[in-house]
Amino acid sequence: LNRRLAAFGTTIFAEMSALAVRTGSINLGQGFPDTDGPEEIREAAVRALRAGHGNQYPPGPGVPELRTAIAGHQRRHYALTYDPDSEVLVTAGATEAVAATLLALVEPGDEVIALEPYYDSYAACVAMAGGTRVPVTLRPDGGAFRLDLDELRAAVTPRTRLILLNTPHNPTGTVLTREELAAIAELAIERDLLVVTDEVYEHLVFEGEHIPLASFPGMRERTVTISSAGKTFSFTGWKIGWITASPELVNAVKSAKQFLTYVSGGPLQYAVAEALRLPDSFYDELRDGLRARRDLLSDGLAEAGFGVHRPAGTYFVTTDIRPLGGERDGIAFCRALPERCGVVAVPNAVFYDHHEQGAPFVRFAFCKRVDVLEEAVARLKTLA
Ligand code: PMP
Ligand code: GLN
Repeated sequence: LNRRLAAFGTTIFAEMSALAVRTGSINLGQGFPDTDGPEEIREAAVRALRAGHGNQYPPGPGVPELRTAIAGHQRRHYALTYDPDSEVLVTAGATEAVAATLLALVEPGDEVIALEPYYDSYAACVAMAGGTRVPVTLRPDGGAFRLDLDELRAAVTPRTRLILLNTPHNPTGTVLTREELAAIAELAIERDLLVVTDEVYEHLVFEGEHIPLASFPGMRERTVTISSAGKTFSFTGWKIGWITASPELVNAVKSAKQFLTYVSGGPLQYAVAEALRLPDSFYDELRDGLRARRDLLSDGLAEAGFGVHRPAGTYFVTTDIRPLGGERDGIAFCRALPERCGVVAVPNAVFYDHHEQGAPFVRFAFCKRVDVLEEAVARLKTLA
């Protein structure tokens, strides 16, 4: 294994899901729903397979039906217009979108600013691209983890190539506000930076609102927006993601993407095109159902003695284990948790360069059936 990757080991999600299987625990670690997305969308995938739509290599940028639907989604929800032919690129999940974007845009030695804690693939992809990551830490403040804009400004140097944002934010559940996004936009323009914004949880917002960074004045040209069907439609295994950006940026990302997977998920692309046209009621039900489960798990964790940072978005709740008494090390806590009570969670420390900043925080996913969450809460209450 080369030096760029040696530091990264096995992704925490694989490690923790394997632990859940091995111990027969309830898996609130890796974020995936335990109920599949809409039946009609699964049927659409079956129809596409049977009709021979996408069984051979689809076009490099994605099938036109899906690119049109993605552009339609950006227009419908955010009044952002993108040309399906030159400004949309379909990828193998948001994961490939992040990888291809960083490989395409980062020169060896460039600095990439990312909000810490960050999704684990960011660090690995910055490293694969030969870049240097510069973390800006979100700090707990009145229940939420907040970005210090002065720290962000201070992190920019002449070597900074881009800011890698994620809102709604995994693992903290923070949703960046209009004011914060406006300040980031101003900074990007002033310092002539690109921004890559991972918005895979765009529809999972319970408080406040999701505002794409690309909708701020002067940002459309310098922003690569990433999203995916995995979270919105509960098909994390389909790995259909996309970027929207200017033709120049889409072409750059395509240059890398063509040599990573070239294309993927042919028939599924047709089904996701249909999913993107589901009525508003679909999005309302998704959000309301998850909000109820957020509250169920958050309340249960608080009753079990955890410090709870109730998230404004995503399907993760970050907890502080210190109030449990005697607990300070989230990694040790998560390794022991299956044995202690049959539940798996993820230690936030692995998403930090400054491990000590993340040490006491542990993430639980609530994209699970109500009965599963209730059983998990009952088990966690035996910890005290
Ligand atoms: N970005 C973030 C912030 C995520 O939480 C995830 C997890 N799925 C991804 C990207 C990857 O998305 P996908 O499964 O579409 O590759
Ligand atoms: N995004 C999911 C999470 O944060 C998992 C993704 C993965 O397993 N790579 O839990």
